[in-house]
Amino acid sequence: MQQKRIELLRPQMGTQRALTVRTYGTPGKGPKAYLQAALHADELPGVLVLHHLEKLLAEAEAKGEITGEVVVVPFANPIGFTQYVDMKPLGRFEMRTGQNFNRHYPDLCDELLAAVEDKLSQNADENVALVRSELRRLIKERRVASGPLTDLQDLRFSLAELAIDADLVLDLHCDWEAAMHLYTSDSSWPDAADLSAQLGAGACLIAEESGDNPFDEAFSRPWVELRRKFGDTYPIPMATLATTIELRGEQDVYDHYAAEDAANLFRFLQRRGVISGDPGPLPAPKCDATPLAGVDRVSATHGGVIVFSAKPGDHVKAGQELGYVLDTETGEKTPFSSRTDGFMYARVGGRLVVPGGLLCSIAGAEVLAGKTGNLLTAR
Ligand SMILES: [Zn+2]
Repeated sequence: MQQKRIELLRPQMGTQRALTVRTYGTPGKGPKAYLQAALHADELPGVLVLHHLEKLLAEAEAKGEITGEVVVVPFANPIGFTQYVDMKPLGRFEMRTGQNFNRHYPDLCDELLAAVEDKLSQNADENVALVRSELRRLIKERRVASGPLTDLQDLRFSLAELAIDADLVLDLHCDWEAAMHLYTSDSSWPDAADLSAQLGAGACLIAEESGDNPFDEAFSRPWVELRRKFGDTYPIPMATLATTIELRGEQDVYDHYAAEDAANLFRFLQRRGVISGDPGPLPAPKCDATPLAGVDRVSATHGGVIVFSAKPGDHVKAGQELGYVLDTETGEKTPFSSRTDGFMYARVGGRLVVPGGLLCSIAGAEVLAGKTGNLLTAR
């Protein structure tokens, strides 16, 4: 294992933050996996999962079983780690700018298409190597061209530079109260089916572009765009599988979950040839992929107290009561339900809601009518 410390841009006098990066195996030798946790800094199940996974990686490395390279960033957001309001950690948005830490990653697609247009060949492996080489160059150029950076922008570039040439990008998150679920590119399905089944995910939400360039899409979309423009002329595989893995809810920080999740990630890395050894049989999948545009984000029609009668992990029917919102001033007691049959993969963590506020999310199999715009926030 090689460990390095990346000093982030010093935002102010008397302050310094850094990323820890640990690399197992040999860079450039085989497939590269990149894993990070807590990009949303208050989402901690992934930190514990990587702690467990790193023990397995160290053992595998000692036995010479790492056939590729595994890059681990055990905590991806030291800026967010220090944000508290009212005694509560607040790690999803940067407090200075209000920006989501998991949005606005560099979009290199236009420059990449121009850079490789005259260099692609009929050799798929050579095309992948060419694209990766150009991506490594372009992200460094973009960093320089961006001029003076904030510490938040520096964090984004630093993480993206580590992941830009990986075959597998696994970004570990969680929801408020949730069942295990994944997000990935629709071009990465069914490629991601083994990961989904191995982790026991109850939903795998796919979209071509969900909006505002979250971390995982910064690494999948270049391949989507390349294949769209040149795929009829040249062999270009969907070479990077990038996913956001939602490790249940934010309170689900337990050794029994983390040990199981780490073992499953290890088996997935074995199955993908990053680590040698037999991963054993793939568990039966608990879900098929469903469109992100098929998610019903059930919202409140008025303010009040939320009383749920359905929980994450439930399969629900359209129109079925999932709970109600209670306003004891007016006496309003309004049941809520989903517009679609589907899997309730998450519900909010608080029990006080405002009009229009999110209550829970249901993954349906069909695209919902009128679903447009940013798919990660649209109802
Ligand atoms: Zn998150």
